[in-house]
Amino acid sequence: MVGAVTNGPATSGVGPAPVAFDDAMRSYEPVLGLETHVELGTASKMFCSCATAFGAAPNTQVCPVCLALPGSLPVVNGAAVESAIRLGLALNCSVASWCRFARKNYFYPDMPKNYQISQYDEPLCSDGYLDVTVDTPEGPREFRVEIERVHMEEDTGKTAHMGGATGRIHGAEYSIVDYNRAGIPLLEIVTKPIEHTGELAPQVARAYVAELRDLVRSLGISDVRMEQGSLRCDVNVSLMPRGGTEWGTRSETKNVNSLRSVERAVRSEIERQAGVLNSGGRVVQETRHFQENTGTSVPGRSKEEAQDYRYFPDPDLVPVAPSAEWVEELRATLPELPAAKRARIKAEWSLSDEELRDLVNADAIELVAATVEAGAPPADARKWWLNELSRRATETEVELADLPITPEQVARVVALVAEGALTNKLARQVVDGVLNGEGDPDTVVEARGLKVVSDDSALGAAVDEAIAGDPDAAEKVRNGKVAAAGALVGAVMRATRGQADAGRARALILERLGVQ
Ligand code: ADP
Ligand code: MG
Ligand code: ZN
Repeated sequence: MVGAVTNGPATSGVGPAPVAFDDAMRSYEPVLGLETHVELGTASKMFCSCATAFGAAPNTQVCPVCLALPGSLPVVNGAAVESAIRLGLALNCSVASWCRFARKNYFYPDMPKNYQISQYDEPLCSDGYLDVTVDTPEGPREFRVEIERVHMEEDTGKTAHMGGATGRIHGAEYSIVDYNRAGIPLLEIVTKPIEHTGELAPQVARAYVAELRDLVRSLGISDVRMEQGSLRCDVNVSLMPRGGTEWGTRSETKNVNSLRSVERAVRSEIERQAGVLNSGGRVVQETRHFQENTGTSVPGRSKEEAQDYRYFPDPDLVPVAPSAEWVEELRATLPELPAAKRARIKAEWSLSDEELRDLVNADAIELVAATVEAGAPPADARKWWLNELSRRATETEVELADLPITPEQVARVVALVAEGALTNKLARQVVDGVLNGEGDPDTVVEARGLKVVSDDSALGAAVDEAIAGDPDAAEKVRNGKVAAAGALVGAVMRATRGQADAGRARALILERLGVQ
């Protein structure tokens, strides 16, 4: 639906052809705004004591308060307020000494009360910033994203359309409304308009969401799983002519659910709006829906006439008035935040910008740090997570952190290689076993019989056989052509099914043949 047009041709979904990104960037300057919802990991809901666990059977985690039955009264969840203050502090915000909840009135079938409890003109936290880093061909560049507000609200329920092929309402036989999610605490983090990013706009948007996700994770207040919807992002984009000062009309792409989609949503929206503007049209203020399959968005609801939510302070709830002492107490207990941690790790492990970037891009910093903490040298820990394990994660399409192997287990494999009990090749088989659910590295080594053959008697027999089996090579080695020993080492490795310590085998061969 596109709203009534008053002046100039309004163009949204099926509009003029998009303009290639680089061309768009020659004429326009993008302005971004990101609204991010984080579902908190509190045990109970925002205003009642219902459980919040993900994936329960529909409507098994509900009560009169979150079903909005008449006469029920909400009570604020203190742990959620504490989480909000901690995030506000980590985002360099000021924390209000007094604020209220407001009712946001609108009708939606998965919202039982006919209003959502949110915060309006009195957010708990405001005026902060988050610094993010973006890679450019000239090296890393830092951008400061200013935060307008962090406020508390409650999630809605979820509607599912059943019986159809697409899961959409069209063609469905019936719909169910599940209120388990209704009332789960949410924090909404709203940025101020982000300017001066130029062609880095898509990357800045992605880097901001990634940094915010890591920050939230480091605070331990949410599991921030974008694919499960515990972190969702609305992406606002507008364009103004290069060198201009007046912002254009923005569109708002709703519920973008992965980092990659955030980047693609910004890029495609810049291309679409540039197409509209180049053809003399005007951009419509509207919500849009991002389509994963095409990487573009389709129009949703028009926002040309602002919806009147009739906000007013919720009379059922007391104001939230955190004492200065409490806020300072929470500030003092903030953990090391991701940016500081990156800087520390970069220095401690003597990483180059590129090495740090690879770790960040692979989402491996925490995993590598934990592996180092479990005793592995940083270089080995990095190698395992960035090569072998990243490859496995990609193959099985899971996040690196979701691979069924722990940093401690990786550290144990590294230790076994360092003591010579495993070759690199055997170590990969051990990792296979661990990923297969066969148990700890030591259990896998035992069960699969993956010990390196390095004791000289067992190895000696294999060496003697190899020499007897290839007299030509042996003769060459005797005559000083040491390179020919490679063939004999190869024979030993084959005979021991790869379990020999190749260095030790080589030494034995040279010794037997009178070299050295
Ligand atoms: P709404 O409730 O309509 O979504 P909000 O104020 O909650 O409005 O969020 C709007 C977001 O868009 C904020 O991040 C804001 O900084 C940003 N924004 C505002 N104006 C523009 C603009 N012209 N272009 C891009 N982003 C904008
Ligand atoms: Mg919005
Ligand atoms: Zn409840």
